[in-house]
Amino acid sequence: MEYLPNIIFAVALIVGIGFFARNVKKLSRNIKLGKDVDVSDNKSQRWKNMAKIALGQTKMVVRPVAGLMHIIVYVGFVIINIEVLEIILDGLFGTHRLFSPLGAVYNFLIGSFEILALLVIVAVVVFWVRRNIIRIQRFIKPEMKGWPKTDGNLILYIEFVLMFLFLTMNAADYQLQQLGVDHYAQAGAFPVSQYIIPLFEGLSESSLILVERTAWWLHILGILAFLNYLYYSKHLHILLAFPNTYYGKTKPQGQFNNLESVTKEVKLMMDPDADPYAAPAEDEAAEPEKFGASDVMDLNWVQLLNAYTCTECGRCTSECPANQTGKKLSPRKIMMDTRDRLEEVGKNIDANKGKFVPDGKELLGDYITTEELWACTTCNACVEACPVSIDPLSIIVEMRRYLVMEQSAAPTELNNMMSNIENNGAPWPYNQMDRLNWVNE
Ligand code: SF4
Ligand code: SF4
Repeated sequence: MEYLPNIIFAVALIVGIGFFARNVKKLSRNIKLGKDVDVSDNKSQRWKNMAKIALGQTKMVVRPVAGLMHIIVYVGFVIINIEVLEIILDGLFGTHRLFSPLGAVYNFLIGSFEILALLVIVAVVVFWVRRNIIRIQRFIKPEMKGWPKTDGNLILYIEFVLMFLFLTMNAADYQLQQLGVDHYAQAGAFPVSQYIIPLFEGLSESSLILVERTAWWLHILGILAFLNYLYYSKHLHILLAFPNTYYGKTKPQGQFNNLESVTKEVKLMMDPDADPYAAPAEDEAAEPEKFGASDVMDLNWVQLLNAYTCTECGRCTSECPANQTGKKLSPRKIMMDTRDRLEEVGKNIDANKGKFVPDGKELLGDYITTEELWACTTCNACVEACPVSIDPLSIIVEMRRYLVMEQSAAPTELNNMMSNIENNGAPWPYNQMDRLNWVNE
């Protein structure tokens, strides 16, 4: 019986980490459904981007209030969780404050964690007010109704509760230390939680132990639950922001990728010495099966990683000129739709023993409409605004490519322009022979 709590703790830890590992496997399988893409270039630039954007949060501070609050929550949450290591070891070995022999260093760490916990609580409250009371525009767009709204709030509640439990646990512990209770040796500094102690006024020793143990258990079980909640939440970005910024675009933003087969075709057309009737060389790359993308499997794996990394912050949408002028397009929705469809495909694979069975649905049409796609000006403002290097435009361009090249379904103006370029070498409907007529007018 003496070891029962340790055994229960070990089981909870194994179950919590086991479920998380299962979700990570599923996540990786889904991302790998995307096409391969070469991202082995510019390694040093990629590392720099990751350090600057993911670790240094440089793009977050473009909006100083939200940026500063986010840094507090991010730093606070990550650093406080260093304490989780001590909690895990205490839970497994039945010790209490295992690292306390560090003395002054330990006191400094616990004291700093407490201050950070308080700052996280303040930041979380500010975030909640911005979302629910002030109702900042980018949080109340149509795509933020339902689960995305609930998810955003749930994360704030969970962070609040976890920090509160941490402080409660420390407060009860401090009180027990003052009473000289066995097992609760003097350790740690409690600059914040000492102010909670009056709440425990008059509690007996056993009640205090009950409070401390309950807060301790709920804190660690809450962290394990939160770890598993990540997969279902926009909060996955706390893990994926790092690989996503590493694999982000390093080419100039305005540079689009060309289809190799089309480039060859155009070069052939422009080459006066080329024999138009020559048979293609055997070693020439085979024509791609499909031009562009109509579903998630047609996108590359970096674009799918982008979809899972999206924090749904809406910075892209608030900078998007199409959205600002009342068009249906929201780059955030493009990313959310891509993730939703990818999840649907993943569930289909799970339900069909590892094989995708066509379900009569596609990203194009069932999630993203052509109206949204053609509203894009390809200005790249969304890419520039994204704090985690997501490129919604690349998905839009791939889907447009499918519409144009596979379905000839471009808007009339665009079709006219493309015919003119093909026939007249210019976007205008005038014969090349008439180009200099203006000289005589
Ligand atoms: S590239 Fe398209 S989606 Fe992105 S901001 Fe510009 S118009 Fe909006
Ligand atoms: S794409 Fe980037 S900017 Fe847009 S909502 Fe997602 S994380 Fe925010």
